[in-house]
Amino acid sequence: MPEKITTQADGTLSVPDEPIIPYVEGDGTGIDIWPAAQLVMDAAAAKHGKSISWKEVLAGEKAFNATGSWLPDETVDTFREYLIGIKGPLTTPIGGGIRSLNVALRQLLDLYVCLRPVRWFQGVPSPVKRPEAVDMVIFRENTEDIYAGLEVEEGTPEARELIALLKEKFDWNIRPDSGVGIKPISETGSKRLIRAAIKYAVENDRKSVTLVHKGNIQKFTEGAFRNWGYELVREEFSDVAVGWDDCAGKPGAKVLVKDSIADITLQQVLTRPEDFDVIATTNLNGDYLSDALAAQVGGIGIAPGGNINYVTGHGIFEATHGTAPKYAGQDKVNPSSVLLSGVMMFDHLGWTKAARDIERAIEATIAEKIVTYDFARLMDGATEVKTSEFAQAIVDRL
Ligand code: NAP
Repeated sequence: MPEKITTQADGTLSVPDEPIIPYVEGDGTGIDIWPAAQLVMDAAAAKHGKSISWKEVLAGEKAFNATGSWLPDETVDTFREYLIGIKGPLTTPIGGGIRSLNVALRQLLDLYVCLRPVRWFQGVPSPVKRPEAVDMVIFRENTEDIYAGLEVEEGTPEARELIALLKEKFDWNIRPDSGVGIKPISETGSKRLIRAAIKYAVENDRKSVTLVHKGNIQKFTEGAFRNWGYELVREEFSDVAVGWDDCAGKPGAKVLVKDSIADITLQQVLTRPEDFDVIATTNLNGDYLSDALAAQVGGIGIAPGGNINYVTGHGIFEATHGTAPKYAGQDKVNPSSVLLSGVMMFDHLGWTKAARDIERAIEATIAEKIVTYDFARLMDGATEVKTSEFAQAIVDRL
């Protein structure tokens, strides 16, 4: 019988064998990749005696056409009620109203972690020599930083007023023809993000957590993020983790927490990827880092993501690419991003065997060079297949 996923007293999820999971098909190529991903997820779940009772909710263009709202309250309420959901890509409405549906959903449900695992699958075309050395999990802060949307436009009364106030109160000289943005980074926001990253590292036998920041320049925001991270290790994790300075880089059996400045990190994830494992970082750094790393392992057609609140239990897993409208309805694009988001969702639900099955089947399919156009154009001797055929080939190899 279909049932809701609930949380237990200690905050862990209680997942029935037939959970009700809300999904958004997604705009543009959503109509191609969603059914493909669903086919594979259903087959993998069935293999382990589970089934998903999918519940469609509307967002984006489909919602706007049906209800006049880009993000109906009912959709947010359904995600809130059923805790775990998954979504395809959404069109960003242009002009007025909601800046981004994805950002709005993250803020409304306070999904404070943007989780992006980055690993290479055998056979996937990559621009680097040793893509197999990339195996990182990024915890990107999702609610603060310049993404909080606190900006005023150049030339407006608000900008003039803010610039005048900053001059009067702090003697800050800001050029009058400036737009101004505010970058809040709080102890609460930083610590809950870093707490989730360290817990993940401990539970998944990871070796290190690297705090990535620009604290050399932005001392009271990015630098504070770093300091709060080390403070948290001492306060809450001293039995299982240790900061670099407290062990001279020799953590023994504990998880090593270290830090790295964002610009050099972007070099080192390329030149010595084995030094990075779990990464915890602020919102903007995390945005750059996740896409740069995704490129090393096959690009956005294959990069999955999840937005999670580990306290309330809410999580929405999603394709990280956009709607690619020029390919919509052509049964052409790669469904791996939304499918691997489903794998993350399975892991989050504790359905790890089904998750590994899907990964192995994707790997086997790609190893046989059965791929969609995006990989086919980068591989010699590939068989280019449609989105739906790629999904069927994965199901055949489950
Ligand atoms: P995009 O939809 O991500 O597409 C950019 C390019 O990425 C495509 O032209 C294609 O490259 C490649 N690509 C995207 N999805 C792919 C897939 N499934 N398989 C293989 N290749 C794929 O970015 P965009 O064109 O800038 O944005 C279109 C719309 O999506 C906008 O409304 C944007 O705001 C929105 N968007 C939504 C999300 C989200 O919902 N998470 C994220 C980003 C953008 P080639 O042309 O080289 O084949």
